[in-house]
Amino acid sequence: MKTITILGSTGSIGQTTLNLVKQHQDKFQVLGLCGGNNLKQMIADALFFKPKFISMSNEKLQKDLESALAGHLPHSKIICGEQASHHIAQEKADIFISAIVGSAGLIPTMEAIKHGTQVALANKESLVCAGNLMLEQVRKSQTTLLPIDSEHNAIFQVLQQNHHAHIEKILLTCSGGPFRTKDLEFIRKATPAQAVAHPKWSMGNKISVDSASLMNKGLEWIEASHLFNVDCDKIQVVIHPQSIIHSMVAYDDGSVLAQLGSPDMAVPISYALDYPKRLANNSKRIDFWQCEDLTFQQPDETKFKALKLSRSAFKANDNSTIILNASNEEAVASFLDNHKIGFLNILDVIEEMLNLNISTKIHSLEDVLAEDQKARIQTQEIIKKFLR
Ligand code: NDP
Repeated sequence: MKTITILGSTGSIGQTTLNLVKQHQDKFQVLGLCGGNNLKQMIADALFFKPKFISMSNEKLQKDLESALAGHLPHSKIICGEQASHHIAQEKADIFISAIVGSAGLIPTMEAIKHGTQVALANKESLVCAGNLMLEQVRKSQTTLLPIDSEHNAIFQVLQQNHHAHIEKILLTCSGGPFRTKDLEFIRKATPAQAVAHPKWSMGNKISVDSASLMNKGLEWIEASHLFNVDCDKIQVVIHPQSIIHSMVAYDDGSVLAQLGSPDMAVPISYALDYPKRLANNSKRIDFWQCEDLTFQQPDETKFKALKLSRSAFKANDNSTIILNASNEEAVASFLDNHKIGFLNILDVIEEMLNLNISTKIHSLEDVLAEDQKARIQTQEIIKKFLR
């Protein structure tokens, strides 16, 4: 039996993970569940999986959660509050699924790594903000960081570590999102409902907006460079609208290795859950006789400037990727909040923040958190200029 703690259990990745656990109850036992505000889902999952630790970031939910679970889970610890997940991350599990959204995932993920837990990472934002610190801690704790992001999971599967020196390129595939074929005028007026309607993947709202702006690919590009220790200039984004190939590694002998699968997060999550074994699941199989044509295009960077912004942030100052991420999180939240700013303003806000070119040296996790907070306050000032 492997014990498992899920950070973000009430979200899209969290629920897909719990479905897999349900299918393999002989293999996994849930140790901890951590959510944010979705009380109803947490109660249902806590009653079904009976974890030892249950947390929600909203401290006002403590009493409701306790009374709903009273008499059912006498041996479970229930903690609500912003730092509740930090405590649960310190409880050693065999595997820790890091799947909350945004840089709020950084501290609990680092706690899990420090305690030697194997981390399956969906929360790319924490790696974008603190990639070097996180990977240093992984080495110190002698644990493994397994990527859940489908592209990075694909690369992880086909990257032959003993041939690392022969990697010519990493080809990071991208569906192009819902606005790939739309013109700039349409994209400028796009509503939150249009932005979250991804053509291939069903995901949480924030990552769906990031996919529409291509910022998701910018964040993933930084994530890939950290995870695979590959120079960022060797990572190329390839638009592949069918989302069948989930990424590729090209070697210097002309071979290109790819991982294929249907666009279903159950596939990469299964791989991470039972690594190094394979875990059977019910995901839709590719039917090659029915398969659409597989096509590949260059990203249109005049329409989508997120890739350019991510590249320049990664190559600029120590703190630039923290600013990139924080300003993106704040701007996306304003867009999703009743369309307070326009869709393309998300990228305008980020660009203005990066153009301030404020350079700070980052030595510790405390430095990352301070920089993240500072950037959010400054971003709010810039957002005011774009309010509709
Ligand atoms: P969702 O919005 O569906 O879920 C987010 C989860 O995080 C929810 O459980 C939410 O709780 C919880 N949460 C949010 N803020 C906090 C907080 N401060 N403290 C504790 N819990 C919190 O997001 P996704 O599942 O789509 O994405 C999660 C992460 O995985 C993101 O980093 C995303 O980029 C990454 N990812 C997602 C993919 C996908 O297919 N969905 C694919 C690849 C990566 P509640 O709902 O209870 O408020």
